[in-house]
Amino acid sequence: MPLPIPGALTYSLPPAIKPPEPGTRILVPVGRRNMVGICLGESGPGADENFTIRCAKRVLDPAPLLSKESLAFLKWISAYYFYPLGQTFAEALPPGFLSARDSGIIRILSGKSARGRSRFKTRGWDTEQGMVLTDQQRQALDRIKGCIEKKEYSPLLLHGVTGSGKTEIYLRAAAACLESGRSVLVMVPEIAMTAQITGWFTARFGEMVAVLHSGMTDAQRRDQWWNIRNGKCLLVIGTRSAIFAPVANPGLIIVDEEHDSSYKQTEKLRYNARDMALVLGRNSGATVVLGSATPSVASYWNALGGKYSLITLDRRVAGRKLPDITVVDRRCGKAGSDRTRSKKCNRGRWLTDELEQAIRQTLQRREQVLLFLNRRGFATYVFCPDCGYVFRCDNCDVTMTWHRSISPRGGAGKSGADPAGILRCHYCAAEKKALPVCPQCNGHAVKALGFGTEKIEKELREKFPGIITARIDRDTISSATRLEKIVRGFRQGDIDLVIGTQMITKGHDFPGLTLVGIIWADMSLNVPEFNAAEKTFQLITQVAGRAGRGKIPGRVIVQTWMADHYALQAAFRQDYRMFYRHEEALRKQLMYSPFSRMINLKLSGTRKDQVMKAGRRIADFAIGMQATNKKGLGEGVDILGPAPSPRARIKNRYRCQVLLKSQNISVLRALCRAVIDKAGELVPSSVRLETDVDPESMT
Ligand code: ADP
Ligand code: ZN
Repeated sequence: MPLPIPGALTYSLPPAIKPPEPGTRILVPVGRRNMVGICLGESGPGADENFTIRCAKRVLDPAPLLSKESLAFLKWISAYYFYPLGQTFAEALPPGFLSARDSGIIRILSGKSARGRSRFKTRGWDTEQGMVLTDQQRQALDRIKGCIEKKEYSPLLLHGVTGSGKTEIYLRAAAACLESGRSVLVMVPEIAMTAQITGWFTARFGEMVAVLHSGMTDAQRRDQWWNIRNGKCLLVIGTRSAIFAPVANPGLIIVDEEHDSSYKQTEKLRYNARDMALVLGRNSGATVVLGSATPSVASYWNALGGKYSLITLDRRVAGRKLPDITVVDRRCGKAGSDRTRSKKCNRGRWLTDELEQAIRQTLQRREQVLLFLNRRGFATYVFCPDCGYVFRCDNCDVTMTWHRSISPRGGAGKSGADPAGILRCHYCAAEKKALPVCPQCNGHAVKALGFGTEKIEKELREKFPGIITARIDRDTISSATRLEKIVRGFRQGDIDLVIGTQMITKGHDFPGLTLVGIIWADMSLNVPEFNAAEKTFQLITQVAGRAGRGKIPGRVIVQTWMADHYALQAAFRQDYRMFYRHEEALRKQLMYSPFSRMINLKLSGTRKDQVMKAGRRIADFAIGMQATNKKGLGEGVDILGPAPSPRARIKNRYRCQVLLKSQNISVLRALCRAVIDKAGELVPSSVRLETDVDPESMT
């Protein structure tokens, strides 16, 4: 049942009804209402007799909704992430499938029968015949094809620099797999930014492609789901949740940009779709290709350790060069630096003379510019210098960001944005009017500090009058179509300059783009996360990789205050190995992933004292288990906390966490299991306990 309870419920069946097969939906009474659940099997006469067994109402599917394989996969996921099985089903199925009222039921009762499986036929390979693979591409493809033919689990890491032609390898490997009679699952980080690759697959494989992503309507998602379940679509391309698609007999699973953090869900069932792709591959004897120009440290470690095979593409296609990177060291007081504390220092400005000049020259040549800053808005915080008051969110423990060009939600609407703008919380979206007056001391000197993409766009328009700019961030991109429009405009040369957040870093090809400017390379280094250097290296390398993918070579200018940092040094040289060696040594020394595994127990509630107390009890219980060492529980597990979360209050909920860390995963999991089994006693019902297995972020 899609309920927050461990395990399953037991029901009897009216004598006239034949027991349904596991994976079939049934309508059953729960309390005073009816709900839809998934049948797991017969419990036999030995079932617990301490409660009355109620009678199921109806069997809803003529045949199991979930195949045996799907059922086993979802059970595994539920256990691995300590997430209730019924809620795992709810997460995995399209919306409405487990709702007693929704059309999902009517749909299936009306009998959406199998339309018969498609057969893959090799047809019109015009697109393919025109392109001769490079030697590296051909060797990579041959190795992948060899694995597909063996029909056994083969994990591969395809490490190919930006522009090395990975997509073409994916397409041909997919064709080979389909020809061998098995289906293909292709995972991409975000559909909006991967419209190009989705387009390639649809162009080449036509009707047999199903696309799954969150931007679709519920009805579209249900349609696609049935097309896959019925075997009409043999190739599925989609974002994170596509891992749950009912693909029968997958022979090839591709995870593009495998390092991307959007594969990890950060609420409810906190799964990592990249990791689950490997589990699915193991279950179904499939070849799993993890592709990236900047592999995650964990995947590269697995590849070096022999767990995955490593395929490297270190050259771009068509003899194109990796871009030249110029570093603008912004430190003024550095010994040996030619910068003095003079005007040249550009202190307090986001744009250095070097980058400004490069932009000017590029625009004069009628070439295009891409600027990257991973922060949106106009100013990061607004404060009163008279009394020190800072505008903070009332619900969250964060400062509010100043936006000037967007109108308030639910407000005046089209009548135009307030010229003073609004303050918005990036965590809960709460808004306040941006006042010129301090609400604490009535002072009139209120000041805005920091900068975001919005300010940069405005200042560039003033500096370079007449240029056509576009901004790509979560404020301007309300829909996938809006983004596509900008991307198309930029590709066609209708836009001179694009400024964007990490939304721009993914897979796009812009042939006329010759200058990439990175405004503040070290911004993402200074966050309290164990993987900050990894994320920064990936961002910088990926953004830089956008340059020079057309015929004209590209140039990258990076502004930074931390030019000596190894992650930046490696990114400037486009040297993944250099980054990896440093990072591996550091992680080993600090015993971070992949040298240890972590489970984060996250507590939240509306009362701070209750949350902290519950955290204390969780930690004490775990420490107690360890001390008594019952069945070796918790030996060698570090129990850290309880500590307030880095964002100690979000949406009016106080948050704290207890982090479990160990080199031994089974000991770690056993201790976590013991804690969760005891949670009913340790944590009051007013406090929520959530489990984050393999966390990627502590916030
Ligand atoms: P990656 O994903 O590795 O960054 P892409 O797959 O996007 O690179 O390929 C970059 C560009 O090179 C694309 O426009 C693609 O069509 C083109 N391309 C791929 N393979 C070849 C090839 N063998 N010869 C010429 N162009 C190619
Ligand atoms: Zn807020």
